Amino acid sequence: MIRISRRMTFAAIGMLIVAAVCALTSAKRDHSFVGHLFAQWMPVFLYSIAGSLAVIAAGVFATGRRWLKESAKLKEAIREAKSEDTQIEPAQFRVKEIRLCADVIASTLATMRHEHKQISDVASRDPLTGLPNRRAFMQTLTREAAVAARTGWPLSLMMVDLDHFKKLNDTYGHQAGDFVLKRASRRMASQLRRTDEVARYGGEEFVVILPNTRIEQAREVAEQLCNALRCDPMNFEGQSISVTASIGVSEVQESQVDDANELIKLADGALYEAKSQGRDRVVVAEPAKDTKGDVPDMSDLLTSLQAPTKPVKTDVVDRDAMALMGSTFSILQLIPDRHRVAQDIVEQVVAVLGGARAALHVIDESTYGLKCLADVRIGDEDIMLPESTLVRWVEDQQQPIDTSNSSIVDVSMEPIGPGGVSRPVIRLPLQASGVFIGVVEAVPQSGEPSLTPRQQSVLVALSAIGCTALRNCDRHMAQQLRWVRLIEALCQTIHSIHPYMRDHAERVSTLAVKIARELGQSNEDELQRIQLAGLLHDIGKIGLPRALFEKRGRLRTGERRRIQEHCEIGESILRRVPGMEYLARIVRHHHEHFDGGGYPDGLAGDEIPLESRIIALAEARDAMRSKRPFRDVLTEEETCKRLREASGTQFDPAVVSAYLTLSGKMDAPSSTSELLLEA
Ligand code: GH3
Ligand code: MG
Ligand code: MG
Repeated sequence: MIRISRRMTFAAIGMLIVAAVCALTSAKRDHSFVGHLFAQWMPVFLYSIAGSLAVIAAGVFATGRRWLKESAKLKEAIREAKSEDTQIEPAQFRVKEIRLCADVIASTLATMRHEHKQISDVASRDPLTGLPNRRAFMQTLTREAAVAARTGWPLSLMMVDLDHFKKLNDTYGHQAGDFVLKRASRRMASQLRRTDEVARYGGEEFVVILPNTRIEQAREVAEQLCNALRCDPMNFEGQSISVTASIGVSEVQESQVDDANELIKLADGALYEAKSQGRDRVVVAEPAKDTKGDVPDMSDLLTSLQAPTKPVKTDVVDRDAMALMGSTFSILQLIPDRHRVAQDIVEQVVAVLGGARAALHVIDESTYGLKCLADVRIGDEDIMLPESTLVRWVEDQQQPIDTSNSSIVDVSMEPIGPGGVSRPVIRLPLQASGVFIGVVEAVPQSGEPSLTPRQQSVLVALSAIGCTALRNCDRHMAQQLRWVRLIEALCQTIHSIHPYMRDHAERVSTLAVKIARELGQSNEDELQRIQLAGLLHDIGKIGLPRALFEKRGRLRTGERRRIQEHCEIGESILRRVPGMEYLARIVRHHHEHFDGGGYPDGLAGDEIPLESRIIALAEARDAMRSKRPFRDVLTEEETCKRLREASGTQFDPAVVSAYLTLSGKMDAPSSTSELLLEA
């Protein structure tokens, strides 16, 4: 750009000089008006040209000097690079690079999830039809049969076999056969309800699980499937192919309870019968033992009418409640918070029992003691849950228990009511797949010492659901810890670039947790959140040059603004890391002042997240107690004095006073406080 304008300037000046000389000579020769004009204005032209030339020459000289300097630097750098003992400075990360890194992490995770899904799909899906395979079907059927056994809901099964499929292959070819299999599977799926599941059992055989369906309903669905296949021939490469199917139907019986294999055997027998009777039809399996069809057994009816007055609480435990529990389970799977999950489970138990009080305890793996995660009390009744007997009861539960057995719910009378009145105490172990993780203890509102079978079965289902959901929370936590390790590694990289920051994050994190405890925080999840935020609060500094942190004396406005950017950069990095989003807000606000004078948003008081207020003080304290390029370590007395002075302006007074109590500076000698804080 410079070169072009310089050339143009020279060309213009040259042309002007030539024009002026020509005009002057001709004017002298003929004394015309033009000649006279040029003769008068010529000196002005010449002076301005000389002036411009002088300015240009000065510019060229200055630029030349800078170029010379730069080239000398370059030469020096090349010489240094060639010499053997050159020390290469560690490269500094730029914000762009870190964002890229966060993107890569996020997309890697997405790929991993996708691959995991693909792998599990391969293991459980049939590649030709895309339907669940035999293995997946067996899992679903076992699960559904267990649910049916516990709840008393009906469960039906269909076995579908395409007729004369070998002949179809022989007539139209295997490609046509494959086409028919795909088309038939789609056609069957379209005839079923969302709760039904069709799977490819093998070859040209399919199975359909129909939860909560009586055999008569299942027969109707089977007839529809037969019609759907029979009435609409398939068109493959211009050829119309007629397809029919034979179907055997069976239903879970009282005598088989949760035996999935028995259900398959019965449906298979019925299918064989359908084939023998001439194919393209539905046959319903004969029940092996006493039937429990749609028409209620009179003796059952009489028994239920004579049963002791049904307590009001059974009203809440109907099928709708069970369906609701199914959806509760899906919601619980999504909640990563153990306390919320525990609260939900306890509330469900209270609803099922019409309970007066219920609490959920889990076994703390580090102490092997019991930890209460949720405690619900209905009404004003003063019921004490007996802790000592609970501990003994839990010790007796260490053996894995058969979850299909509804007697796992324990009921005993204990003197827990006001004035030592005996009340029934119900204990529901939380267990799934033979793993025992805790217990829900409940006291029903009515003093009845027995549960109805329906209540028993719902509680057993809740036990498995609650246990699985709580274990999912733990898995979620473990996944998050993996992320933390990754981010920690990233932080280590920044810290190796900025020597002051080495161990700074660790110290801030430890102190922040201590302050939070001092402020009365005892929730482990909340404390972990503060610990993580402490470790990561400076992650935004990853994008800033080292010189900024080592500068002696006052920072210029631009430099200060760049340093301040680390809060927003930190926030934007954490927002991109799955599972870390909740830390982003804490990191963004860790430089806000209690009186609103901080950055980046000038929030004040309670508007600033408490975690950020705690980290702000912990960070300031650590800065004062560390040696910096521009000043020495401050004593603990001096540090406390400065924090006290800034209480209510820069720092939250409650946080300052928690720190001062912690440090023992209120009344204890300094050595004690130093020991306490450095521990
Ligand atoms: P039936 O009416 O008694 O059921 O007679 P069928 O011919 O349908 O039964 P059979 O069990 O004798 O033959 C099943 C045929 O299905 C044999 C096999 O080649 C074919 N088959 C199994 N899997 C596939 C597949 O994935 N694609 C194709 N094209 N054919 C398959
Ligand atoms: Mg067949
Ligand atoms: Mg067959």
